Amino acid sequence: MGVGLRDYGPIVGSAVLEELAILSERVRARRHLHVNSTRVGGGVAEILQRAIPLLQELGLEARWEVIEGSPEFFEVTKSFHNALQGQPVPISREMLDTYVICNYENSLRVNLDADVVYIHDPQPAAMVRGRREGQKWVWRCHIDLSHPQMEPWEYLRGYVERYDASIFSMTKFAQNLRIPEFIMPPSIDPLSDKNRDLDPQEVDAILDQLNIPRDKPLVTQISRFDPFKDPIGVIRAFRLARQHVDCRLVLAGGGATDDPEGARVLARVLEEAAGERDIHILDLPPQSDLAINALQRASTVILQKSLREGFGLTVTEAMWKGKPVIGGAAGGITLQVQEGFTGYLVHSVEGAAYRIRYLLSRPELRERLGQNAREFVRRNFLITRNIRDYLLVILALEHPGHAQFEI
Ligand code: UDP
Repeated sequence: MGVGLRDYGPIVGSAVLEELAILSERVRARRHLHVNSTRVGGGVAEILQRAIPLLQELGLEARWEVIEGSPEFFEVTKSFHNALQGQPVPISREMLDTYVICNYENSLRVNLDADVVYIHDPQPAAMVRGRREGQKWVWRCHIDLSHPQMEPWEYLRGYVERYDASIFSMTKFAQNLRIPEFIMPPSIDPLSDKNRDLDPQEVDAILDQLNIPRDKPLVTQISRFDPFKDPIGVIRAFRLARQHVDCRLVLAGGGATDDPEGARVLARVLEEAAGERDIHILDLPPQSDLAINALQRASTVILQKSLREGFGLTVTEAMWKGKPVIGGAAGGITLQVQEGFTGYLVHSVEGAAYRIRYLLSRPELRERLGQNAREFVRRNFLITRNIRDYLLVILALEHPGHAQFEI
C-alpha cells in the first residue's frame, strides 16, 4: 500500500491532520486542477506527485495535467525562464508566437473542467485565455522573479494579471501585481526516499557503495555543479578548516551529463581538488534520492555555500535530518538558516571555514542546532503545510477582502 495521510500523523501531529480535514471540508465541493509542464524531474513535479493523492485522500476532486509542447516550445520557455530570472536573453516576436500558440493548443487539449485551476510557472501561464465562466485561476510561480528582464516580464504580466491570484515562494520573489498575491514557501516530503528515515546499516551500506569512509567527520555539500553553488569556494573553505580539524569533504551533485555548463564546472572542481586527500567529488546520476538521503544523514555538518539561491531545498533536506547547516546568505537559505539557532550564514570562504571548524569542535552545539533545524522544518517546510496553504488560498479567494496575506 502506498503512503497515505495517516502516515504523516506521527511526524506532524494529529492536530495538523485534523486541520487539513476541517479545511478540506470547506472546499470539498470544488474541483481542483493543477497544470504544469513536466510529470517528472524538478521540484514542482515532486510536490505534485505526492500532493495530488493527499488532496484526493482528503476527499477533494483533484487532478494534475501536464502540457505538451515541441522541443522548440521548450527552448523558448527555457529562454523565457532565464530572462524572467534576470539573464539578458533575447526574446523575439517569433518566440512569443511559439509560446502563445502552444499554450492555446494546450488549452484546447487539456481537460480544464475544474472550479479552481492552478497553473504552475510561466510555461503554461498563457493558458488563462482558455478560462471559463465561474472558474478561479491561480498562477503559482516557483521561480525567482525578483530581478526579471523587464520586457519579457511585462509581456507575461499581461497574462498573470488575468488570474484571480498569484502565489510566490518568498516575498522577495513577488512582484507588484494588480491581483492578490500569496506567499507559499516550497516543502519537502518527509516520507519520500530522499527524506525518509534510514537505518544506520542502510546508511553505511550506501556510503560503502559510494566509497566514502566513515573514519572522520564528513562535511558535505550536495548540489548541481553550478557556479552559483560555489563548489570551488567550498573546497577552499574545507582546505582552510582542515588545517585545524581533521575531516572529509563530500561534494556531490548531478546535472553534469545533460548540461554543458555543469560538465565544465565539474571539470573545474575536479581540477581544483586533484591529488588532494579526503576530498570526494561525486557525480551523481539522476534519481539518486537514497544516496542523497544517506550522505546527508552520514554528515556531521552540511554546507550550502550558494552565492545565489532560489529556495535551497538541499538545506531543508539537511535540516530535516537534524544537521546544522552552514549556508551562503542568499535567497531562501536566509529563511531557513536562522543564525545560531539552526545553523550559520556565511558571506565568504573564510567565514565558511571558520564555521566548519567551529561546529566540528562543538558536538553539543551541533546536536542542539540540528534538533532546532528539524523542528523548524517540521513546523514550516513539510508537504502537509503546503497542502494546508493550497486549501487556505481557495478559502481566501472565496472571501475577498482578506485576500492578501502571507501564509
Ligand atoms: N539534487 C539531486 N541530485 C543532485 C543534486 C541535487 O536530486 O545531484 C536535488 C536536491 O536533493 C534537491 C534539489 O535537487 O532536492 C535541488 O534543489 P535546490 O532548491 O537545493 O537547488 P536547485 O538545484 O533547484 O537550484
